[in-house]
Amino acid sequence: MSTIRKVEIHEFGYEAKNLAREGQVRTVTYRKGASMRVSKYAVVIETADGARGEYVTHAVGSRSALGQTLMLAPQLVGRDARERIAIYEHLKRDVRQFDHMGHGALDIALWDWAGRRLGVSISELLGGYRKRLPAYASTYHGDRQGGLWCKEAYADFARQCQGMGYRAFKIHGWNDGNAREEAANVLHVAREVGEHMTLMLDPACELRTFADALYVGRACDDGGYFWYEDPFRDGGTSAFAHRKLRSMIKTPLLITEHVRGVEAKADFLLADGTDFLRVDPEYDLGITGALKIAHFAEALGIDVEVHACGPAHRHLMSALRNSNYYEVALVGPDCPNALPPVYACGYSDQLDCVDKDGMVTVPTGPGLGVTYDWDFINANRQALHAFE
Ligand SMILES: [Mg+2]
Repeated sequence: MSTIRKVEIHEFGYEAKNLAREGQVRTVTYRKGASMRVSKYAVVIETADGARGEYVTHAVGSRSALGQTLMLAPQLVGRDARERIAIYEHLKRDVRQFDHMGHGALDIALWDWAGRRLGVSISELLGGYRKRLPAYASTYHGDRQGGLWCKEAYADFARQCQGMGYRAFKIHGWNDGNAREEAANVLHVAREVGEHMTLMLDPACELRTFADALYVGRACDDGGYFWYEDPFRDGGTSAFAHRKLRSMIKTPLLITEHVRGVEAKADFLLADGTDFLRVDPEYDLGITGALKIAHFAEALGIDVEVHACGPAHRHLMSALRNSNYYEVALVGPDCPNALPPVYACGYSDQLDCVDKDGMVTVPTGPGLGVTYDWDFINANRQALHAFE
């Protein structure tokens, strides 16, 4: 037995430069000279034998997710850290009234603990077979400030990414949800770089109506897009609407970023609501939950695309045969990725993290294979919650 003795949750924040939350829906976009406060949290799990697991959230960090993590963390104390499945089942049931977004960070820290204790990477624990992953540049949403402000700027940025090695590029459009503007952008970028790059579109549920989603989807057809993701304001949750959309356009749909966990994603896929499944170890109940989703997809011959980026995401994808691209999110021509600058080992998901072939590497050290900068986390800490 490896009894969990203590769980710590470190809340911290930092400023991200040249970024702001814009528009009615407060989408994060470029604004020159601005500074945006970003909140994240670190999980530390210690067992009675002195072993330790850590994880710092990447895309997750909202008060809502933190609230769930704080609700679940004390329940780990006294449990056997090796029993990730038993813990997964317990935590899943316990937050069944909520969206499960606070669960993943705890599970990932348990995987880090297991890898460190055995002296192997999480990729090795998973039987991972690839050391490099093909990546796509996933843009910030459009702005009106001189960054990604027009279709020509998107095409210029795609060419810049291509020059850096990227073979794939995903557009997040403007938050206005103007279908004509989005469709014109889709077609322009396809004309300019489509011969050389795989293209994807993610309106991130900004288009207002099904009809607008159909209109932009037909532009994706004309532009030969690889996938069309979460187009409109159903919030990416209506299997019926997306089955109907699939019957009216040719471009494969990637839905289920906002459908949580293996059971609901299985229902969505079996209802013909999507072509690809989406999976994220932070969103989908950890690496433990994400594996179930990936294997379900594999059983039906379907691909599963990993949402967002981070060391946990790389380890997971290294063990998935049925997955195409790693998402370097979010990037733009004039602003950094707003992910937490917490790595003391050179790990990065910034725009320049790919090699000349557009690939990222999977960390090789024990556990997550990264070293966190605890001086930075402690210096920027807003609160420490310790359960023992
Ligand atoms: Mg998305």
